[in-house]
Amino acid sequence: MTGLAPAQGHLMSTYAPAPVRFVSGAGARLVDEDGKSYLDFLSGLAVTSLGHAHPAVAEALCRQAGRLLHVSNLFRNELAEDVAATLDRLIGDGQPAGGKVFFANSGAEANECALKLARRFGGRGRHVVVSAYGSFHGRTLATLHATGQPEKHEPFAPLPEGFRHVAYGDVGDLARVADPSVVAGVLVEPILGESGVIVPPRGYLSDLRALCDERGILLMVDEIQTGLGRTGRWFRFQDEDVQPDVVTVAKALGNGVPVGACWARAEVADAFVPGDHGSTFGGQPLALSAAKATLDTMVELDAPALASAAGAHLRAKLGELDGVAKVRGAGLLLAAVLEQGIDSKALVADALALGLVVNAPIPGAVRLAPPLLVSEAECDEAVAILAAALAQNRGESGRIRGDSHHRNADEQEGR
Ligand SMILES: *Cc1c(COP(=O)(O)O)cnc(C)c1O
Repeated sequence: MTGLAPAQGHLMSTYAPAPVRFVSGAGARLVDEDGKSYLDFLSGLAVTSLGHAHPAVAEALCRQAGRLLHVSNLFRNELAEDVAATLDRLIGDGQPAGGKVFFANSGAEANECALKLARRFGGRGRHVVVSAYGSFHGRTLATLHATGQPEKHEPFAPLPEGFRHVAYGDVGDLARVADPSVVAGVLVEPILGESGVIVPPRGYLSDLRALCDERGILLMVDEIQTGLGRTGRWFRFQDEDVQPDVVTVAKALGNGVPVGACWARAEVADAFVPGDHGSTFGGQPLALSAAKATLDTMVELDAPALASAAGAHLRAKLGELDGVAKVRGAGLLLAAVLEQGIDSKALVADALALGLVVNAPIPGAVRLAPPLLVSEAECDEAVAILAAALAQNRGESGRIRGDSHHRNADEQEGR
């Protein structure tokens, strides 16, 4: 790998990228600029659920690019109607759920739509949205405040008002805060993705549903990371047979093309009138051609069933690894929780060098989110690489491993 490319110097320092440049991919594999092959068990953070360069998505994009890219939302859009209807049916687990969709360009924008909709539906004064500590809902100022990580708020204060946080998985804590005279809704991840794939106690979502019904507040489920088959169901909330008022989707929706969506049941959706919300690019044909191809392919292949089967296999194999204390998550959204003393950042760097892409959302755990079409052989290969990385990690001294941040920074500067 050559020295710091000039381009990197012109990029804002919002990321500290690993010293590798991927140039192509196919399925669960990536290839870097030196021709080295990697297994991608991160999928760009649960985005490329059909794998890289999926032919159905590639063909749809090429066809649409040669036909019509953009006309604005001032005109009717058949692709939007089509994808919205499919999403509604998937949210209804095969039956129409009776909702309506707003298309956005990202997860944060899908959540922004949900937050504005909650305020509009709640009416003036009932504008508070409650979310959980440890949650992640996006990086815009409002979704940042919904994100329950005070250390992320601090540099950007003052944030938009109208947000409260409660303990994740604790409906009692919410009951204390959810005053229906000011609270419009609850925004919740059914599994905390960015905080290390934390699965709440069973019954959490249905208890939330009951409390929201009792108080007359909206249950808004952020399925941006968990949705579209990844956890073994179309949406994670279906695992508890819960019917949310609002569902947000993004990441996997375009298999890598930026597109997000906010679904709401019709009565809630109808709180918006023309002029209340909008987006120049939201729902534009190119993005929706990818979304349509992605959803149609997922339906055809029964993506949730694939995720469930591959997830069970991967989970069992990970659980057998020396150095892995336990595995948590659902389907193909998994975290291998490491034994004490193993530095997840160093492990992720070692795995990358050995040809496996995973990440460390929190210090003690490694997240795995391979494409839903991953094979058992690819899972076994990934686990073997992880085993080698773990052996390497435990073989080296704590002195080197003690300060992975510096090690990482040195690597980036010293290339
Ligand atoms: C990634 C993510 C978001 C933000 O999506 P962006 O497309 O990065 O704006 C919001 N909520 C959850 C649960 C996510 O995982």
